[in-house]
Amino acid sequence: MKLFDLHCDTAGECLNRKQPLYDGDLHINLCKGELLDKWCQLFAIWIPDELIGGAAEEYFEKVFLNFKNEISKNKSKIKLCNGFEDLQSAVKENKCAAILTVECASPFADSDGIYRAKEHGVKVVTLTWNGENELGFGCQSGSDSGLKPLGKQLLKDMERLNIVADVSHLNRAGFYDAVSSGARVVATHSNSESVLLKTRTDSEDKFFSCRRNLDDEQIKLLVESESLIGINFCRSFLGDFGDDGFEAVYRHMAHVLDLGGENVLSIGSDFDGCEINPELSGIDKIPVLQEFLHKKGFGEELIEKIFYKNAYNFFKKVLQS
Ligand SMILES: [Zn+2]
Repeated sequence: MKLFDLHCDTAGECLNRKQPLYDGDLHINLCKGELLDKWCQLFAIWIPDELIGGAAEEYFEKVFLNFKNEISKNKSKIKLCNGFEDLQSAVKENKCAAILTVECASPFADSDGIYRAKEHGVKVVTLTWNGENELGFGCQSGSDSGLKPLGKQLLKDMERLNIVADVSHLNRAGFYDAVSSGARVVATHSNSESVLLKTRTDSEDKFFSCRRNLDDEQIKLLVESESLIGINFCRSFLGDFGDDGFEAVYRHMAHVLDLGGENVLSIGSDFDGCEINPELSGIDKIPVLQEFLHKKGFGEELIEKIFYKNAYNFFKKVLQS
């Protein structure tokens, strides 16, 4: 059983809920992860929208320090990967191969901020969260504007430094700016807007949930760009309450596949970052989900691509260069 998961908020939750990474009461812990033969995990440090400038950087440092301490307490179980060799050896030694990301780039939103991100080993930067920040406008900001000059400059620097731009959470105009920038782009944790429009009947936060997902044109563009789309387990981005478990994940996956996404479809669980249907609520549920998809007709090769290989191939290129 293999998993390469593009997004979780476990690092922040370890600090904020005072939970240990080893066996904390979280969607992800290292004990639960033991049932996976190969496990690569992007760990995001999420920066709340209200933190800007120095306060954002201070918060990042706090979460990062706590996360590093958790990793050093569990050296036999997890390794923070800086290059592809780290990832290869972690996988070989049956450890969780951890990759650091930042969700909302406010801590690094100045002319040399991206170098500090690089020094910390950040490999993926989600440009905004839901609101506005120094770089651009999130999907809930109410703005239709594209990226700000600092956001465009950051993308150029990221391209040069080989840091991946994550377009999940951006508004539509920002998405198109990022995809046309030349930087490597992924949508680490976003589903299909058209599937959600068809299946969500309740009106509560429907508009926002749809905006957090990708429309068909965006999905096709990410397919063409040889990007990645991580399917998010957040209940409100999957379907109506109660219709937001395995069947809903299958629906979103099948739609991305219909749009040609066999080589970009991945997992972006959002574990420890949102409310999740009990069917999916933890890394220990991954084998059951795989079995479900198999019964729905997904072959073994396809399941391996979605849960591991697509993301592995992508990050092999990122970490090698
Ligand atoms: Zn998120």
